[in-house]
Amino acid sequence: MPGDVPGVTLRKLLAESPVPIQFHNTLTKSKQPLETLEKGVVRMYNCGPTVYSYPHIGNFRSFTFADLLRRYLEYRGYEVRQVMNVTDVGHLVHDADEGEDKLEAQARREKKDPWQIARHYEEIFLGIREKLGFAKALAHPRATDHIGEMIAIIETLLAKGNAYVVGSNVYFSVASFPAYGRLSGNVGDGLEAGARIEPHPDKKDPRDFALWKHDPQHIMQWDSPWGRGFPGWHIECSAMSQKYLGETLDIHTGGEDNIFPHHECEIAQSECANGKPFCRLWMHARFLLVDGQKMSKSTGNFLTVEDVFRKGVTPQALRYALSSTHYRQQQNFTWEACSAAQQAVDRLAEYRRGLADPAGTAPLSAVKSALDAAQKAFESAMDDDLNVSEALGAVFTMIRDVNKAGPGPAAAAAALELFDRFDSVFNVGAAPPDVFTAEEQALLDARVAARAAKNWAESDRLRGVLEAGGVLVEDRARGQRARRRR
Ligand code: AMP
Ligand code: ZN
Repeated sequence: MPGDVPGVTLRKLLAESPVPIQFHNTLTKSKQPLETLEKGVVRMYNCGPTVYSYPHIGNFRSFTFADLLRRYLEYRGYEVRQVMNVTDVGHLVHDADEGEDKLEAQARREKKDPWQIARHYEEIFLGIREKLGFAKALAHPRATDHIGEMIAIIETLLAKGNAYVVGSNVYFSVASFPAYGRLSGNVGDGLEAGARIEPHPDKKDPRDFALWKHDPQHIMQWDSPWGRGFPGWHIECSAMSQKYLGETLDIHTGGEDNIFPHHECEIAQSECANGKPFCRLWMHARFLLVDGQKMSKSTGNFLTVEDVFRKGVTPQALRYALSSTHYRQQQNFTWEACSAAQQAVDRLAEYRRGLADPAGTAPLSAVKSALDAAQKAFESAMDDDLNVSEALGAVFTMIRDVNKAGPGPAAAAAALELFDRFDSVFNVGAAPPDVFTAEEQALLDARVAARAAKNWAESDRLRGVLEAGGVLVEDRARGQRARRRR
């Protein structure tokens, strides 16, 4: 029996054992192996944007992290069911159910109605996702399309004694859920400064939070068993995650500011309503900072994604800049980091171009060990809670080694295949094709004609003219190759 041979048994075991991916869980504050509810499937919910203005690059740090995570899980063979909501019922400036509704305030500023504001900025958000090359999510559900689902959960919570009605408002009773505070560490009297909530005349406990609110001034309103009103922010994510992914999620992500109160409240609502664990693994991206401060819409110290593009940073470079610092480290935004990211992605694109049109002669055997080592290093780095710096380090070491060998066609084909596999995760290496003006194209065509006529002097002159205008020309076995100087 082959199974009796120790080597074979070990190999079989290794093949059957799950991929050894470990992620840091905010809930347990430690790294743990990824275990999913269903083998090979990851149900992942990402807290999405509040669509009341242009998203800033801090928001996109958190979204890029979610995309990177999804892409790596797919690299590892998982089917990822990813849902990222769109918050289009504005939540209040203060988490304590007080203050101005951000979406409605913006509507007043722009002299539009909140629905127009929400649709406009949702479109901008989806457009940026596309520009940055994000994988398509299973759904981007809107809060306003799920009011009925939210009301149903609130009714369950009332029926089970986890919520109470005061006038036309409904509050969640935090005392009814002893595990409240487990995620954030904000427990009882130990509430951290900033998370402390003042007593409220309607609330039995200052920690209680609104599930449904009555406010005649609010423009977005819906009928409910408690009168016209609108839902609290937290209930939307409980309702939409459950509808699209089921009562227990494998992974839930957000930025670090979502931990408390938002995610703490989601856990309380969903676990009380369903009597099941809400989510197995919580992953949070730390902030993108500007001059040591959180980049934030409300303080005004932010750069929108379009601001960055307008400075000539390409989408690939921005993606690289936002994903190359580990997600659990705060990252300071600087233009120097952007230009370093631009150089890195240009180098990746140049390597890829070279492999697609190899100039060397080295056989496959000359690069095989560099490729194998790179794959091993890349995977073990990413398996360890997405250690992107080590993974990218492995990619650049591979580039140096392969370039040194000077690959011929077979070696280049193998190197290209591996590179594209790595790049299915980072999605930064395929340079957009250079676009030439009509004049530049005419010069390029004239140069091809000059070379065909063996008019080397004219071909060199045209090269000089093109280079002076920033278009570099190289002659390869298959013909002329042109690219724009960066
Ligand atoms: P919002 O549109 O304010 O609801 O935020 C959308 C997402 O961006 C949430 O997951 C936030 O946690 C995240 N976020 C907000 N500011 C930052 C920042 N400076 N750095 C990283 N993530 C952020
Ligand atoms: Zn959420």
